[in-house]
Amino acid sequence: MSLTHFNLTTKLLERHQQQRFRQCKTHDSPQSATLIHQGQTYLNFSSNDYLGLANHPLVKKAFIQSAEQDGVGSGAAHLVCGHHRQHQALEEELAAFCQRPAALLFSTGYMANLGVINALVGRGDAVFEDRLNHASLLDGGLSSGARFSRYQHNDVDDLQQKLQANDSLKKLVLTDAVFSMDGDLAPLPQLIACCQQQQAALMIDDAHGFGVLGNTGAGTSEHFGCTVDDVPIYMATLGKAVGTFGAFVAGSQELIDYLRNFARPYIYTTALPPAIAAATRQSLRLIAQETWRREQLQAHIQIFRQQVLAQGWSLMASDTAIQPLLVGDEQRALQLSQALADKGFWVTAIRPPTVPVGESRLRITLTAAHKTADVQALINALAELRTNDV
Ligand code: PMP
Repeated sequence: MSLTHFNLTTKLLERHQQQRFRQCKTHDSPQSATLIHQGQTYLNFSSNDYLGLANHPLVKKAFIQSAEQDGVGSGAAHLVCGHHRQHQALEEELAAFCQRPAALLFSTGYMANLGVINALVGRGDAVFEDRLNHASLLDGGLSSGARFSRYQHNDVDDLQQKLQANDSLKKLVLTDAVFSMDGDLAPLPQLIACCQQQQAALMIDDAHGFGVLGNTGAGTSEHFGCTVDDVPIYMATLGKAVGTFGAFVAGSQELIDYLRNFARPYIYTTALPPAIAAATRQSLRLIAQETWRREQLQAHIQIFRQQVLAQGWSLMASDTAIQPLLVGDEQRALQLSQALADKGFWVTAIRPPTVPVGESRLRITLTAAHKTADVQALINALAELRTNDV
């Protein structure tokens, strides 16, 4: 039976006509400040490796040593026979790192979000999501069968009204802590007050804050001084600032025991390779010890914002490593991305459906792997584009 009546051709053609057909570009380099594509070296301003740890010699060494000792595949799901000593140690260290009683590893952030939401709410319950939440939070909410509503971006009054108007017993509020395409922070203190008043539970997705924000790198929750009572469900990923792969949820021991028993994407999937857990443990030690990485990143952010705003570009209101340059028009975003590529910079254009129509942008990310001269080179290139009215 062929797939003819599934309309793949028509849908793909539509994507081509909209110039939104997506394809991966291969590269031949580790994640770092530079990236090699078809023999050409680019300065990389699109990576989420915010602290420059993905290619760190000690992280790689921990990975290799563990692979030699523990093997490559974990062989089974955690609850079967896949839960290695490395996973156990990492879960304990993650809990301690983010100052919460317990933590549970998931194979990806996408699965963590689907797993937690579907384990906690279902038909008859209600989820409330920021309009700009990551797709995995939205998909989790939609697939749960709970009543689903979205509030205006970071608008606590709108959330309050929606919570008040809803009489479900279980209400779950979901938000990115650092918004992945805008780089701004969720107003956690206000969200916490609102949730407490309305007896709703708050879950934050700190994929882009963990490792980067807070005095010790424990993330957006630490940045705002929140406790486990304020934010009972803390989720973060390991493939960004931590430089490895996977995700975790942290909270009370009861929450973690519950998820281990009821979160299907945890139960029914193969555990991460133990060597990934070992590499992640090393990476956490570096995040704790090498505070200069966060400081360097902060310095890059300040310089970049100051100079690029002075050039007249429109940057979004973000103080994080994600510094989107708002373009608006899709074609112009592609054109600018290409013009930067011609000058040796890898800066990806982000367009609908990832962001709303009319809000296409260059999602520029700064990392501790960049030298000040790299950031300055990008600033100079943007100045030239501005002068030449590209
Ligand atoms: N949440 C957010 C906010 C993200 O940006 C991402 C990754 N883009 C995820 C979840 C998914 O994490 P993972 O890549 O580990 O599936």
